[in-house]
Amino acid sequence: LADRLQNTIQRIKGKGKVTEQDVKEMTREVRLALLEADVNFKVVKQFINKIKERAVGQEIMESLTPGQQVIKVVKEELTNLMGGEQSKIAVADRPPTVIMMVGLQGAGKTTTTGKLANLLRKKQNRNPLLVAADIYRPAAINQLQTLGKQLNMPVFSLGTEVSPVEIANQAIEQAKAEHHDYVIIDTAGRLHVDSDLMEELTQIKENVKPDEIFLVVDAMTGQDAVNVAESFNEQLDITGVVLTKLDGDTRGGAALSIKAVTDTPIKFAGMGEKLTDLEAFHPERMASRILGMGDVLSLIEKAQENVDEKRAKELEEKMRSASFTFDDFLEQMGQVRNMGPLEDLLGMLPGANKMKGMKNLQIDEKQLSHVEAIIQSMTKKERVDPSIINASRKKRIAQGSGRNVAEVNRLLKQFNEMKKMMKQMTNMQKGKKGKGFKF
Ligand code: GDP
Ligand code: MG
Repeated sequence: LADRLQNTIQRIKGKGKVTEQDVKEMTREVRLALLEADVNFKVVKQFINKIKERAVGQEIMESLTPGQQVIKVVKEELTNLMGGEQSKIAVADRPPTVIMMVGLQGAGKTTTTGKLANLLRKKQNRNPLLVAADIYRPAAINQLQTLGKQLNMPVFSLGTEVSPVEIANQAIEQAKAEHHDYVIIDTAGRLHVDSDLMEELTQIKENVKPDEIFLVVDAMTGQDAVNVAESFNEQLDITGVVLTKLDGDTRGGAALSIKAVTDTPIKFAGMGEKLTDLEAFHPERMASRILGMGDVLSLIEKAQENVDEKRAKELEEKMRSASFTFDDFLEQMGQVRNMGPLEDLLGMLPGANKMKGMKNLQIDEKQLSHVEAIIQSMTKKERVDPSIINASRKKRIAQGSGRNVAEVNRLLKQFNEMKKMMKQMTNMQKGKKGKGFKF
């Protein structure tokens, strides 16, 4: 999924101007990619229409090239497609709240049961009871008991001879008696969806009336995960999905389709084998992952958040026309500060690390304050035209700012270099004309 999209994105990214034809091409690629990922045809169609509408009709934001703008729209719509962020877990009117974990064998049910219990305790100060209702393999019970020990949490088990329904019922009685506010039932899985399994799960469901039924699916299984989700949802009407093994190099097409097919939110993401490796599912991060360009996108976002776009444009113009002054420099420094370490920002720019003279831009916080002090000690005239700063002026500026002449010299040099760099960078970003990132 990611490959094709990325090619198109690469092509469109650097463009200063995006034509309707570009948008068409882009949406065609997106459409194919989604269809390839088995996303429901209607969903794809809706999605594409939305993108077209927004990308073509929209006023172009000043700090973004139209290419970036299209990508931004695609990303936002991908995010929407996967649903908002929904890591909330139901709370029963009368405790305990019952959560049933279902899914195929090896998907990560047992592990996620432990992770979820850990999260509930840590984030919400809850006191869950874990229930071993996978009676077909003794090892499954041991596995849950081991997790319980690690977490220092009780595990309810009646061995392998009592039916899962009975186990679940008794567990809930015990939870009430011992004032557990959550009960998490770890059920059995099979290698494939089969009717015996569904029958068993349905019985448990009807008996305990769980507040949540979480389907655990392995993200690595790709499109199979989608079919599995569809079957489980048909039979059990699941309330949420946990997507595991996202720490692997899976692409996440499954995430798109699962939400579209089941219309239930993906609530959590398994990010590793440890008990702490469970996170709220972030549709937005997943969209970035699918687009395969997280860094560029977060840079766009940062720039959007922190830079006054109009002003940035004016500054850029000034820089190019060489009328950029130390006053402007001061102002920009303020904006750069809001964005975080300059180094990080430059690191996000594709190709920026290949630029010569990068080192000179690695200004740290303390240095920034020194630089500010030096500039503030300059006269208005000097700030506008640094070329008049001769030796005696340098001495005065150094004294006024509490720095030394060498530092003043360095700043003057950096200032000139910065001007040069900015020019290079904007040229890189925009090709020959168009707009680029501003600092
Ligand atoms: P179950 O059969 O559904 O109960 O699956 P398990 O909980 O026993 O998990 C099967 C395997 O997947 C185990 O080796 C787990 O450590 C591993 N696993 C579960 N969740 C994750 C995850 O999010 N990331 C990784 N890397 N491994 C996971
Ligand atoms: Mg298990």
